[in-house]
Amino acid sequence: SAEREVDVKEERVETIDGREIEVAANLGTTAEIDGASAQGADGVGLYRTEFLFLDRESPPDEDEQVDAYVEALDAFPEGRVVVRTLDVGGDKPVPYLDLPEEENPFLGNRGIRRSLADDGDLFETQLRALLRAAAEGAGELSVMFPLVATVEELDEALELVESVAADLDEDGIDHATPELGVMVETPAAALMADEFAARVDFLSIGTNDLAQYVMASSRENDAVSHLHDPRHPPVLRAIDRSVEAAHDNDAWIGMCGEMAGNPELTKLLVGLGLDELSMSAVTIPDVKAGVEAIDTADARDLADRALAASTKEDVVRILSQES
Ligand code: PEP
Ligand code: MG
Repeated sequence: SAEREVDVKEERVETIDGREIEVAANLGTTAEIDGASAQGADGVGLYRTEFLFLDRESPPDEDEQVDAYVEALDAFPEGRVVVRTLDVGGDKPVPYLDLPEEENPFLGNRGIRRSLADDGDLFETQLRALLRAAAEGAGELSVMFPLVATVEELDEALELVESVAADLDEDGIDHATPELGVMVETPAAALMADEFAARVDFLSIGTNDLAQYVMASSRENDAVSHLHDPRHPPVLRAIDRSVEAAHDNDAWIGMCGEMAGNPELTKLLVGLGLDELSMSAVTIPDVKAGVEAIDTADARDLADRALAASTKEDVVRILSQES
Protein backbone atom coordinates (compact mmCIF):
# COMPACT_ATOMS: atom_id res chain seq x y z
CA SER A 1 0.00 0.00 0.00
CA ALA A 2 1.08 3.56 -0.68
CA GLU A 3 2.92 5.30 2.11
CA ARG A 4 1.07 8.15 3.80
CA GLU A 5 2.59 11.48 2.88
CA VAL A 6 0.34 13.55 5.08
CA ASP A 7 0.51 13.40 8.85
CA VAL A 8 -2.64 13.25 10.92
CA LYS A 9 -3.32 16.64 12.49
CA GLU A 10 -5.13 16.47 15.80
CA GLU A 11 -5.41 20.23 16.07
CA ARG A 12 -7.76 22.52 14.18
CA VAL A 13 -6.40 24.13 11.02
CA GLU A 14 -6.48 27.60 9.54
CA THR A 15 -5.47 29.19 6.28
CA ILE A 16 -2.17 31.09 5.91
CA ASP A 17 -4.01 34.31 6.74
CA GLY A 18 -5.72 32.84 9.81
CA ARG A 19 -9.20 31.77 8.74
CA GLU A 20 -10.18 28.65 10.68
CA ILE A 21 -11.89 25.92 8.68
CA GLU A 22 -13.54 23.12 10.62
CA VAL A 23 -12.69 19.74 9.12
CA ALA A 24 -15.10 17.07 10.29
CA ALA A 25 -16.02 13.47 9.59
CA ASN A 26 -19.08 11.88 8.05
CA LEU A 27 -20.27 8.87 10.04
CA GLY A 28 -22.61 6.08 8.99
CA THR A 29 -22.39 4.00 12.17
CA THR A 30 -20.99 4.26 15.72
CA ALA A 31 -18.26 1.84 14.62
CA GLU A 32 -16.73 4.65 12.54
CA ILE A 33 -16.23 7.00 15.51
CA ASP A 34 -12.75 5.75 16.43
CA GLY A 35 -11.51 5.99 12.86
CA ALA A 36 -12.73 9.58 12.64
CA SER A 37 -10.81 10.52 15.79
CA ALA A 38 -7.72 8.70 14.55
CA GLN A 39 -7.74 10.76 11.33
CA GLY A 40 -7.87 14.01 13.28
CA ALA A 41 -11.51 15.00 12.77
CA ASP A 42 -12.45 18.20 14.61
CA GLY A 43 -15.90 16.71 15.08
CA VAL A 44 -18.69 15.12 13.08
CA GLY A 45 -20.29 17.13 10.26
CA LEU A 46 -22.77 14.47 9.20
CA TYR A 47 -23.95 11.61 11.40
CA ARG A 48 -26.29 9.62 9.18
CA THR A 49 -28.78 7.99 11.55
CA GLU A 50 -30.25 5.51 9.05
CA PHE A 51 -28.10 2.69 10.48
CA LEU A 52 -30.17 2.79 13.65
CA PHE A 53 -33.39 2.21 11.73
CA LEU A 54 -32.54 -0.11 8.84
CA ASP A 55 -32.17 -3.90 8.80
CA ARG A 56 -34.43 -4.54 11.77
CA GLU A 57 -38.02 -5.41 12.48
CA SER A 58 -38.91 -2.57 14.82
CA PRO A 59 -37.60 0.96 15.33
CA PRO A 60 -34.94 1.75 17.96
CA ASP A 61 -36.46 3.12 21.16
CA GLU A 62 -35.56 6.47 22.67
CA ASP A 63 -32.88 5.12 25.05
CA GLU A 64 -31.08 3.17 22.33
CA GLN A 65 -30.92 6.35 20.26
CA VAL A 66 -29.69 8.48 23.17
CA ASP A 67 -26.82 6.01 23.65
CA ALA A 68 -25.81 6.16 20.00
CA TYR A 69 -25.80 9.97 19.92
CA VAL A 70 -24.02 10.33 23.26
CA GLU A 71 -21.32 7.90 22.13
CA ALA A 72 -20.40 10.28 19.29
CA LEU A 73 -20.67 13.37 21.51
CA ASP A 74 -18.37 11.84 24.12
CA ALA A 75 -15.78 11.03 21.45
CA PHE A 76 -15.52 14.73 20.55
CA PRO A 77 -15.68 16.58 23.88
CA GLU A 78 -14.17 19.74 22.34
CA GLY A 79 -16.02 19.41 19.06
CA ARG A 80 -19.38 19.53 17.40
CA VAL A 81 -21.45 16.55 16.27
CA VAL A 82 -24.03 17.25 13.58
CA VAL A 83 -26.72 14.58 13.61
CA ARG A 84 -29.04 14.33 10.64
CA THR A 85 -32.56 13.16 11.36
CA LEU A 86 -33.71 10.01 9.61
CA ASP A 87 -33.40 10.23 5.83
CA VAL A 88 -35.27 7.33 4.26
CA GLY A 89 -37.82 6.99 1.51
CA GLY A 90 -39.20 4.60 -1.02
CA ASP A 91 -35.75 3.55 -2.22
CA LYS A 92 -34.91 1.81 1.07
CA PRO A 93 -37.03 -0.96 2.55
CA VAL A 94 -37.89 -0.34 6.22
CA PRO A 95 -40.18 -3.21 7.26
CA TYR A 96 -42.01 -1.44 10.10
CA LEU A 97 -42.59 1.77 8.12
CA ASP A 98 -44.83 0.40 5.43
CA LEU A 99 -43.39 2.69 2.77
CA PRO A 100 -45.11 2.18 -0.55
CA GLU A 101 -42.78 1.49 -3.44
CA GLU A 102 -42.55 4.63 -5.52
CA GLU A 103 -41.96 4.94 -9.22
CA ASN A 104 -39.56 7.83 -8.67
CA PRO A 105 -38.37 7.61 -5.07
CA PHE A 106 -35.79 10.40 -5.36
CA LEU A 107 -38.63 12.78 -6.13
CA GLY A 108 -40.90 11.14 -3.61
CA ASN A 109 -41.69 10.89 0.04
CA ARG A 110 -38.23 10.95 1.60
CA GLY A 111 -36.16 12.94 4.09
CA ILE A 112 -38.00 15.56 6.13
CA ARG A 113 -41.15 14.99 4.05
CA ARG A 114 -41.48 11.46 5.28
CA SER A 115 -40.60 12.41 8.84
CA LEU A 116 -43.36 15.02 8.90
CA ALA A 117 -45.88 12.73 7.20
CA ASP A 118 -45.11 9.93 9.66
CA ASP A 119 -48.25 9.03 11.56
CA GLY A 120 -46.32 7.02 14.12
CA ASP A 121 -44.14 8.92 16.53
CA LEU A 122 -40.83 8.03 14.91
CA PHE A 123 -39.73 11.62 14.29
CA GLU A 124 -40.85 12.78 17.71
CA THR A 125 -39.00 9.93 19.40
CA GLN A 126 -35.83 10.78 17.51
CA LEU A 127 -36.12 14.44 18.50
CA ARG A 128 -36.69 13.50 22.16
CA ALA A 129 -33.59 11.30 22.06
CA LEU A 130 -31.58 14.12 20.46
CA LEU A 131 -32.64 16.72 23.03
CA ARG A 132 -31.74 14.33 25.84
CA ALA A 133 -28.39 13.53 24.22
CA ALA A 134 -27.66 17.26 23.87
CA ALA A 135 -27.75 17.54 27.66
CA GLU A 136 -25.92 14.29 28.36
CA GLY A 137 -23.06 14.11 25.83
CA ALA A 138 -19.71 15.88 26.23
CA GLY A 139 -19.49 17.55 22.79
CA GLU A 140 -21.81 20.13 21.30
CA LEU A 141 -24.81 18.65 19.48
CA SER A 142 -26.25 20.09 16.30
CA VAL A 143 -29.26 18.62 14.53
CA MET A 144 -30.11 19.06 10.86
CA PHE A 145 -33.01 18.15 8.63
CA PRO A 146 -32.54 16.44 5.24
CA LEU A 147 -34.12 17.27 1.90
CA VAL A 148 -35.96 20.37 3.04
CA ALA A 149 -37.71 22.13 0.15
CA THR A 150 -40.11 24.57 1.80
CA VAL A 151 -40.16 27.03 4.67
CA GLU A 152 -43.34 25.34 5.89
CA GLU A 153 -41.52 22.03 6.32
CA LEU A 154 -38.80 23.72 8.32
CA ASP A 155 -41.25 25.68 10.47
CA GLU A 156 -43.15 22.49 11.22
CA ALA A 157 -39.95 20.69 12.21
CA LEU A 158 -38.87 23.61 14.41
CA GLU A 159 -42.25 23.67 16.12
CA LEU A 160 -41.98 19.97 16.80
CA VAL A 161 -38.58 20.52 18.43
CA GLU A 162 -40.20 23.13 20.69
CA SER A 163 -43.10 20.92 21.63
CA VAL A 164 -40.78 17.99 22.35
CA ALA A 165 -38.73 20.29 24.61
CA ALA A 166 -41.92 21.33 26.42
CA ASP A 167 -42.90 17.68 26.91
CA LEU A 168 -39.48 16.84 28.35
CA ASP A 169 -39.76 19.84 30.65
CA GLU A 170 -43.11 18.69 31.86
CA ASP A 171 -41.78 15.20 32.51
CA GLY A 172 -38.79 16.62 34.37
CA ILE A 173 -36.36 14.93 31.99
CA ASP A 174 -32.95 16.51 31.53
CA HIS A 175 -32.52 17.94 28.03
CA ALA A 176 -31.02 20.81 26.04
CA THR A 177 -31.93 22.36 22.71
CA PRO A 178 -29.20 21.71 20.16
CA GLU A 179 -28.10 24.01 17.38
CA LEU A 180 -30.50 23.48 14.47
CA GLY A 181 -29.76 23.42 10.77
CA VAL A 182 -31.04 22.72 7.29
CA MET A 183 -29.38 20.66 4.59
CA VAL A 184 -29.17 22.39 1.24
CA GLU A 185 -29.87 19.46 -1.07
CA THR A 186 -32.60 20.77 -3.33
CA PRO A 187 -32.60 23.68 -5.79
CA ALA A 188 -35.53 25.00 -3.73
CA ALA A 189 -33.34 25.16 -0.63
CA ALA A 190 -30.50 26.89 -2.47
CA LEU A 191 -32.91 29.47 -3.91
CA MET A 192 -34.56 30.03 -0.51
CA ALA A 193 -31.37 29.75 1.55
CA ASP A 194 -31.83 33.26 2.97
CA GLU A 195 -35.24 32.33 4.41
CA PHE A 196 -33.86 29.12 5.88
CA ALA A 197 -30.72 30.73 7.27
CA ALA A 198 -32.81 33.37 9.03
CA ARG A 199 -34.59 30.58 10.95
CA VAL A 200 -31.72 28.30 11.96
CA ASP A 201 -28.14 28.34 13.22
CA PHE A 202 -26.50 26.71 10.22
CA LEU A 203 -26.83 25.24 6.75
CA SER A 204 -25.01 22.19 5.41
CA ILE A 205 -24.75 21.57 1.68
CA GLY A 206 -25.34 17.99 0.59
CA THR A 207 -23.74 18.07 -2.85
CA ASN A 208 -24.60 14.44 -3.66
CA ASP A 209 -28.27 15.29 -3.78
CA LEU A 210 -27.85 18.95 -4.74
CA ALA A 211 -25.91 18.00 -7.90
CA GLN A 212 -28.49 15.32 -8.67
CA TYR A 213 -31.40 17.75 -8.48
CA VAL A 214 -29.72 20.83 -9.99
CA MET A 215 -28.45 18.80 -12.94
CA ALA A 216 -31.51 16.52 -13.17
CA SER A 217 -29.17 13.54 -13.29
CA SER A 218 -29.38 10.56 -10.98
CA ARG A 219 -26.53 9.96 -8.54
CA GLU A 220 -26.91 6.26 -9.27
CA ASN A 221 -26.89 6.18 -13.07
CA ASP A 222 -23.50 5.79 -14.76
CA ALA A 223 -24.91 6.94 -18.07
CA VAL A 224 -25.30 10.47 -16.67
CA SER A 225 -22.44 10.53 -14.16
CA HIS A 226 -20.71 13.24 -16.25
CA LEU A 227 -23.68 15.47 -15.44
CA HIS A 228 -23.82 14.46 -11.80
CA ASP A 229 -20.68 16.45 -11.02
CA PRO A 230 -20.56 19.37 -8.57
CA ARG A 231 -18.04 21.18 -10.77
CA HIS A 232 -20.82 22.16 -13.17
CA PRO A 233 -21.25 25.97 -12.98
CA PRO A 234 -24.91 25.83 -11.87
CA VAL A 235 -23.95 23.69 -8.86
CA LEU A 236 -21.15 26.11 -7.98
CA ARG A 237 -23.59 29.00 -8.28
CA ALA A 238 -26.07 27.23 -6.00
CA ILE A 239 -23.28 26.77 -3.44
CA ASP A 240 -22.14 30.39 -3.73
CA ARG A 241 -25.63 31.69 -3.28
CA SER A 242 -26.20 29.50 -0.23
CA VAL A 243 -22.97 30.63 1.43
CA GLU A 244 -23.85 34.27 0.91
CA ALA A 245 -27.36 33.73 2.27
CA ALA A 246 -26.00 31.95 5.35
CA HIS A 247 -23.45 34.62 6.17
CA ASP A 248 -25.90 37.48 5.52
CA ASN A 249 -28.10 35.87 8.17
CA ASP A 250 -25.37 35.14 10.73
CA ALA A 251 -25.53 31.41 10.16
CA TRP A 252 -22.50 29.21 9.59
CA ILE A 253 -22.42 26.94 6.57
CA GLY A 254 -20.73 23.63 5.95
CA MET A 255 -20.61 21.03 3.23
CA CYS A 256 -21.05 17.31 3.81
CA GLY A 257 -21.45 15.86 0.31
CA GLU A 258 -18.61 13.97 -1.41
CA MET A 259 -17.36 17.21 -2.91
CA ALA A 260 -16.12 18.36 0.52
CA GLY A 261 -13.66 15.46 0.76
CA ASN A 262 -11.90 16.03 -2.55
CA PRO A 263 -8.54 17.68 -1.71
CA GLU A 264 -8.37 19.06 -5.26
CA LEU A 265 -11.42 21.18 -4.48
CA THR A 266 -10.44 22.42 -1.02
CA LYS A 267 -9.14 25.77 -2.25
CA LEU A 268 -12.26 26.36 -4.33
CA LEU A 269 -14.50 25.57 -1.36
CA VAL A 270 -12.56 27.81 1.01
CA GLY A 271 -12.77 30.52 -1.67
CA LEU A 272 -16.53 30.03 -1.87
CA GLY A 273 -16.62 30.75 1.86
CA LEU A 274 -17.55 27.43 3.48
CA ASP A 275 -16.87 27.44 7.23
CA GLU A 276 -16.81 23.69 7.65
CA LEU A 277 -16.03 20.69 5.44
CA SER A 278 -17.19 17.20 6.41
CA MET A 279 -16.04 14.05 4.68
CA SER A 280 -15.22 10.39 5.02
CA ALA A 281 -12.45 10.16 7.58
CA VAL A 282 -9.66 8.96 5.29
CA THR A 283 -9.48 12.27 3.41
CA ILE A 284 -9.28 14.47 6.52
CA PRO A 285 -5.46 14.65 6.75
CA ASP A 286 -5.14 15.70 3.10
CA VAL A 287 -7.85 18.33 3.37
CA LYS A 288 -6.37 19.71 6.61
CA ALA A 289 -2.96 19.99 4.94
CA GLY A 290 -4.64 21.70 1.99
CA VAL A 291 -6.35 24.30 4.18
CA GLU A 292 -3.02 25.28 5.77
CA ALA A 293 -1.54 26.05 2.33
CA ILE A 294 -4.37 28.38 1.28
CA ASP A 295 -4.47 32.16 1.20
CA THR A 296 -8.13 33.16 1.34
CA ALA A 297 -7.82 36.13 -1.06
CA ASP A 298 -6.23 33.79 -3.61
CA ALA A 299 -8.92 31.24 -2.97
CA ARG A 300 -11.68 33.84 -3.45
CA ASP A 301 -10.10 34.83 -6.74
CA LEU A 302 -10.16 31.18 -7.82
CA ALA A 303 -13.80 30.87 -6.77
CA ASP A 304 -14.73 34.02 -8.71
CA ARG A 305 -13.08 32.66 -11.85
CA ALA A 306 -14.83 29.30 -11.44
CA LEU A 307 -18.18 31.04 -10.89
CA ALA A 308 -17.68 33.04 -14.10
CA ALA A 309 -17.04 29.89 -16.18
CA SER A 310 -19.64 28.77 -18.70
CA THR A 311 -18.89 25.06 -18.66
CA LYS A 312 -17.62 22.30 -16.41
CA GLU A 313 -14.70 21.93 -18.80
CA ASP A 314 -13.72 25.54 -18.12
CA VAL A 315 -14.02 24.97 -14.37
CA VAL A 316 -11.82 21.88 -14.63
CA ARG A 317 -9.25 23.87 -16.62
CA ILE A 318 -9.26 26.72 -14.09
CA LEU A 319 -8.78 24.23 -11.24
CA SER A 320 -5.97 22.38 -13.01
CA GLN A 321 -4.02 25.63 -13.50
CA GLU A 322 -3.90 25.91 -9.72
CA SER A 323 -1.78 22.87 -9.03
C1 PEP B 1 -25.78 14.56 0.19
O1 PEP B 1 -26.85 14.40 -0.40
O2 PEP B 1 -24.81 15.17 -0.30
C2 PEP B 1 -25.60 14.01 1.54
C3 PEP B 1 -24.53 14.30 2.26
O3 PEP B 1 -26.55 13.13 2.00
P1 PEP B 1 -26.65 11.60 1.48
O4 PEP B 1 -25.42 11.32 0.65
O5 PEP B 1 -26.74 10.77 2.72
O6 PEP B 1 -27.91 11.65 0.69
MG1 MG C 1 -28.58 13.65 0.68
